[in-house]
Amino acid sequence: MSFLPVMPPSDALIAGEWVATRERLDVQAPSSGEVIAEIARSQSWEVETAVVAARGAFAGELGDWASWMARRRSEWLLAFAAVIEADHANLAALECADTGKPMTQARGDITACARYFRFYGGAADKLHGETIPFENDFAVMTLREPYGVCAQIIPWNYPAQIFGRCVAAALAAGNTVVLKPAEDACLSGLRLAQLAYENGLPPGVLNVVPGLGREAGAALAAHPGIDHLSFTGSPETGTQVAQAAAVHHVPVTMELGGKSPQIVFADADMEAALEAVVRGIVQNAGQTCSAGSRLLVEASCAEAVLGALVERFSALRCDAGEADADCGPLINARQKAKLEARLAAAAEDGIRVAAKGQLAAGAPGGGHFVVPQILVEIPDGHEVLREELFGPVLAVQVFADEAEALRLANATDFGLCAGIWTGDGGRQLRLARGIRSGQVFINNYGAGGGIELPFGGVGRSGHGREKGFEGLKSYTRLKTVAIKHG
Ligand code: NAD
Repeated sequence: MSFLPVMPPSDALIAGEWVATRERLDVQAPSSGEVIAEIARSQSWEVETAVVAARGAFAGELGDWASWMARRRSEWLLAFAAVIEADHANLAALECADTGKPMTQARGDITACARYFRFYGGAADKLHGETIPFENDFAVMTLREPYGVCAQIIPWNYPAQIFGRCVAAALAAGNTVVLKPAEDACLSGLRLAQLAYENGLPPGVLNVVPGLGREAGAALAAHPGIDHLSFTGSPETGTQVAQAAAVHHVPVTMELGGKSPQIVFADADMEAALEAVVRGIVQNAGQTCSAGSRLLVEASCAEAVLGALVERFSALRCDAGEADADCGPLINARQKAKLEARLAAAAEDGIRVAAKGQLAAGAPGGGHFVVPQILVEIPDGHEVLREELFGPVLAVQVFADEAEALRLANATDFGLCAGIWTGDGGRQLRLARGIRSGQVFINNYGAGGGIELPFGGVGRSGHGREKGFEGLKSYTRLKTVAIKHG
């Protein structure tokens, strides 16, 4: 690695203090399998003290974050965005080493993280309730109040971005936070938390409990002292987390997986569509909830589109994150083994690999690489069309007309994103309405990750919204005040 990042403290961060845990976890670099750090293995005790600290900082002996003027919180968040930007190279190097993602993508993630703090910093003092017309002798208004202690359980695929998305919004709304980062990638989160306190965050406003999901994560989800829970990760874990939170009637936001289609019609701007189809599945080695993992292509252009994709996929190179190739490794050996088993099962079912990328000659031996690939000749309803593979694998289906495109697009329990590529305005709107998903992108895919746009799922992709102004509102609860003034 040409640039050695400053490693953050590896302990749990509780009430503004770094707290060592008895047991530790190794952090492996996905690009090489080498151990690059160790982190705290927080248990229920650390979670307990972190929740108490967050409660105290919300409105108690530690501080009064909730009663800070919105403008003051806004100023802190905006200043922190500048701190992140100043540490950009360091944070990007940490993210690249920890997740294995190509350096250009890691840099983009840190930029997005800073943007979240800027966006929510700017929005903190613009969040307000409403007045409601009612009977003449009443004045009725709504107040937007912070929940209190927000628990946030986040995954390893976009640690810095999701840190920004969840922490910035929760703090902007006046909440305090207990964050459980993923055991597979949490170094950028620890560094960001370190910088937050160096930037004058009052003790206990942000607490971080690194550790295993079944230990620290489960303890946090089940804790009676949390007031809101935001989870991003797999649907299976999401179910467990939501069940644990339901015991204490804690409201949850669930950002789960996806099996998102990109639908390409013959009249599409093909160059733009092909570019977005490749990027939509290769970015972050396909380990993205919103990955465009299915391509639905109109029969009349299917041969040409597939031919062009075969050429593009064959030219893709996999290498260590630091080498900044097209595609990095998967996060760990378990994910690689899981994906390879699914690909082997698909081959046994007669599914054909139309093209594969290649491993770069100098790629490290211990890296968890799976090269990008295209699957074709897939039986209707097959697992590779329904389940999130979480790798750089594009499943292709051909449709005859708009009605079939819509049927195939909706033939999944997930409903996160869809891309529609066509110049026909009527078809754009019909499909945008008909597709069952939280986001629809027309003649683009992902809108450049726009942090201003509300984001969330339908069905097995989850519920609630993060990002944008809606995301800020979801970290508040609405109180109605009705005054009878006579
Ligand atoms: P996961 O959902 O198990 O982990 C996400 C977060 O939840 C991590 O912080 C983890 O420590 C925590 N967690 C795990 N078990 C928990 C529990 N019982 N209680 C509370 N918290 C818990 O994801 P994973 O095991 O790392 O990956 C498995 C699959 O999840 C992947 O193959 C992929 O399909 C999916 N995934 C999806 C996303 C997404 O953004 N949609 C992100 C990561 C993983």
